[in-house]
Amino acid sequence: MRCELCKRPAWYRCGRTGVAICPVHASLEVVASQPDEGRSGSFEVRAATLEEYPCLKQMAVDFWGETEMECFEGVYDVTQLPAFAGLAEEELVGFLSYAIEEDALSIVMLNVLPEHQGAGLGQELVKAVIGEAGRRNLSRLIVGTSNDNLPALHFYQRLGFVIAEVVPGRIVEYHGGVEEGFAGIGVRDEIRLGLVLGDVDQAR
Ligand SMILES: [Zn+2]
Repeated sequence: MRCELCKRPAWYRCGRTGVAICPVHASLEVVASQPDEGRSGSFEVRAATLEEYPCLKQMAVDFWGETEMECFEGVYDVTQLPAFAGLAEEELVGFLSYAIEEDALSIVMLNVLPEHQGAGLGQELVKAVIGEAGRRNLSRLIVGTSNDNLPALHFYQRLGFVIAEVVPGRIVEYHGGVEEGFAGIGVRDEIRLGLVLGDVDQAR
C-alpha cells in the first residue's frame, strides 16, 4: 500500500480521511480524546504459522523495504524470528516479530496495515507478547524506536513502557546520514523503551 501523496510505502491511516499515508506526509495535531468513538475491530491474534511467513515477509518489505532490523546490539531478520499474527477475516493484516535476549523479550518489528489501524490490533499484539514473556518467565520487554517516531513513542508509553535509554546519533550512523522521518523530523537517535513485567497490571 502506497502513500496517497507520494510513492513511498504507507505506514499510517489518516485519522481524518482514512487514506493511507507515509511518515513524511503524516502530520501531528492535538485533539480532544474521544475514547468512546474509537474504531474497534474484530481480530484474531495468535502465533504466526509457517504458511503465513511469505505474507509476513512481503508486509515487512512493503513497510521497511527489507526484512532486517537493527535494534539494540543486534541485527535481526524477521523471517527468522517468531511472531504473533493479527488476522481479520482470516487474512494477515498485522504482525509483531520478537527475539529473546537474556531476561528480556525484544519487540523487533510491529506492523499493522493502514486500513486496519486505530482499531486496537497493535495493542492486542503487544498484549500477546506480554503473555509470551510471562510464560517464558522473562522479567521485561524492550523495544527500540527512533526520535521522530512520535506515534510509536505515544503507543508504547500508553501501554506502560518507559524510556530507558537514548542513543544519540545511532540511526544516522546506521543509515550514513539524516533521513526524513515522521512529519519531516530528521531521523537521528535510537530511543529504547522497556516494560518491567511486574508493572503490567496497570497497563491492562
Ligand atoms: Zn507520502
